[in-house]
Amino acid sequence: MHDFRYVGKKLFCGRVAVESLVKKHGSPLYIYSQHTLTDHFQKLDHALAPLDHLICFAMKANSNLAVMRTFANLGSGFDVVSEGELRRVIAAGGDPRKCVFAGVGKTELEIEFALRKGIYCFNVESEPELLRINRVAARLKKVAPVAVRVNPNVDAGTHAKITTGTYENKFGIAFEQVEGVYARAAKLKNIRLRGLQMHIGSQLTEVRPFALAVKKVLPLVQKLAAKHHLEFFSIGGGIGIVYQPALASGDAAWWKTSAAKKILTPQTYAAALLPLLRPLGLKILLEPGRFLVGNAGILVTRVEYLKRTGRKNFVIVDAAMNDLIRPAFYDSYHEIIPLTKKGGATISSDVVGPICESGDYFCKDRPLPKVGEGDHLALLSAGAYGFVMASNYNSRGLAAEVLVNGNKSALVRPRQGLEEIWQSERVPGWM
Ligand SMILES: *Cc1c(COP(=O)(O)O)cnc(C)c1O
Repeated sequence: MHDFRYVGKKLFCGRVAVESLVKKHGSPLYIYSQHTLTDHFQKLDHALAPLDHLICFAMKANSNLAVMRTFANLGSGFDVVSEGELRRVIAAGGDPRKCVFAGVGKTELEIEFALRKGIYCFNVESEPELLRINRVAARLKKVAPVAVRVNPNVDAGTHAKITTGTYENKFGIAFEQVEGVYARAAKLKNIRLRGLQMHIGSQLTEVRPFALAVKKVLPLVQKLAAKHHLEFFSIGGGIGIVYQPALASGDAAWWKTSAAKKILTPQTYAAALLPLLRPLGLKILLEPGRFLVGNAGILVTRVEYLKRTGRKNFVIVDAAMNDLIRPAFYDSYHEIIPLTKKGGATISSDVVGPICESGDYFCKDRPLPKVGEGDHLALLSAGAYGFVMASNYNSRGLAAEVLVNGNKSALVRPRQGLEEIWQSERVPGWM
C-alpha cells in the first residue's frame, strides 16, 4: 500500500532513511514516495483496463509539479478547478487536452484561458455558467465542450465537509433538472455536449454509495448519450484510503483482519462498477485525488517541548495546523510514529503545534511512545490535502517538500524563506 516502513529501528521511505532527509532539509518536511504514486495510479488504471477510460488526477489534492509530472508521465489527465491549476498542469508537462475543468465559480477569464488551451471538457455546475461559457466561446469563435455535473442526491455517508452529492450541497445540477438543461444547451451554438459528470464526495470507504449513484444516474446517461451523442461519463473521485494505524505502520497481520477485507481497493471498486459501466459503451472518466496521493506522503515534525498540565501530556511539535489543517478542519486521524522506533510503555498524549489556536492539534489523548525534545515524528498519510492547504498563518513559512524514488531523493520545493511571506506587501505612501 505504501513505501514507509521501519528497517531495524529507523523509518525509511523506499531505500532512504527519513532521518537523513530531515538532517538535510530540516523540519517540518513533507516527503512523498514516487513509487507509491506510480503504484496507486497503475493499480487503478489496470483495474479499469476493460473500459475505455481516462484517469484525471484531481490535482487539488496535491499539486506539486513533481507529483503531477509523475502522473502526466503515466498518461494521466487532470481535474482542475481554477486557471492556476490549469497553468500548473502546463508547467508540469501535462496535457490540457486531457483536462476537465470543475468548480461552481468559473470566471470569464478562466473560461477563456481554458478554451484557448483546448481542454477536454468543462464540467458545468449551473445554467448561468453554461450561458457564460457559450458567450465566451462565441466571442473566441470556438465551440466549448461541456458536461453537466449531475447531483444525484445520494448521501456518500462521509464527513459533512466532504459530502458533495446531496441537495444540501452547492455542487452540480439537480438530477430532475438535467434533461431540461441538456435540451436547452443543445440549442446553444457554441456548446458541444460531450458528456455527463458526477462526484458524490470524498473519502468514501465503501463501494456502495458509488454503485448506488451510478445505478441512479445510469438511465439518464443512456438517454442523454443517445439523444446528444455524448462521448463520456465521469464518475468523479472520492475513493477513500486507510488512515488507521495497523496498516500505516506496515503490520502484515493486519491485512488478514476483517477490517482489512472491507478496504475499498481498486479491485473492489472496479468489480462493483465495471458491470454497470461496460454496457454503456461510453468512455469513462475518473477523478481520483486522495486515493492516488494520500498514502504516498508523510509530514515529518520535530518535538520541541514536552509539557504536562494537570490532566494532559502535550507533545509540542514544530509543525502546525498551517502545515496540515486536516485534523482541525475535518477531525481527521493521522497515524503518528517516531522516526526511531521506541519500545516500552506508551503515554496518552496530545500532539500540538505552536499556533495560537486550540484547534492546532494533530491528535488528542492518543497512546504514543515516549518521545523527548529533538526527536522526530512522522504524520502518516499526509500526501492528500496536506501541503496544498498550507498557509502562512502566524507568519510561518511553508514547509519543504521532498520526492523519493528508490534510493534517490530530491527537494521538489524548498522551504519558504520568511521574507518571502511578506515580500509582495506594501505599506501605503501616507504612512
Ligand atoms: C475534490 C474532487 C475530486 C477528488 O476527490 P478525492 O476524494 O480526492 O478523490 C474529484 N472530482 C471533483 C469534482 C472534486 O471536487
